[in-house]
Amino acid sequence: MTSQRTRDRLVQRLRDNGIRNEAVLEQIRNVPRHLFVDEALASRAYEDTALPIGLGQTISQPWVVARMTEALLEGFSGETVLEIGTGCGYQTAVLAPFVKKIYTVERIPELMRKTRQRLYDLDIYNVQFRPGDGWEGWRKYAPYDGIIVAAAADELPEKLLQQLAPGARMIIPVGRTGYQDLLQVTRKDDHFEEVSLGAVSFVPLVHGK
Ligand code: SAH
Repeated sequence: MTSQRTRDRLVQRLRDNGIRNEAVLEQIRNVPRHLFVDEALASRAYEDTALPIGLGQTISQPWVVARMTEALLEGFSGETVLEIGTGCGYQTAVLAPFVKKIYTVERIPELMRKTRQRLYDLDIYNVQFRPGDGWEGWRKYAPYDGIIVAAAADELPEKLLQQLAPGARMIIPVGRTGYQDLLQVTRKDDHFEEVSLGAVSFVPLVHGK
């Protein structure tokens, strides 16, 4: 159920559904998604669906992770990425080999601690963790060469826009509960350019505590 064939089938499905970046697909094949969910759900880890991970949170659907990673990396230049909503760290693990450093922010400290250990156990070391509010970003290491947000914002977070380097892009679901619009926001000289990548469904990017 976590076999190579099961993983191959997932990758083929993502390819059939429009994921084009072969390096990203290879990474989806390599990351052991069954280690990011409870053992009871391991048999479903290579289905293309979001799954519950406890504390009211979910592991993102593989297609969404692949699409966001592909969109972020397209034309990516530089080294650093800010990730908001670490969760179980699956998106982090898929992205990690493509960038020099990921700064990741998660509001639930308990989740963050488990994820830090999990990524260590998988020999992923280029990630720096911070418990905190993603609406604030992480000013200390700004500006970032890319920003990826794994929870739905009800509006574009101003502070994240400010922490984007010139020419860099942010991938973020925007909208209210149910379905949101996955946006790619690029920082141009004097404005931000928005492109819609389609409808997605995320847990909300929570305001405050
Ligand atoms: N990236 C994960 C999915 C994360 S689900 C994966 O690869 O599967 C969204 C995460 O965002 C949850 O862990 C939730 O706790 C976190 N979150 C929600 N609001 C937040 C906020 N304001 N700041 C930081 N993290 C937040």
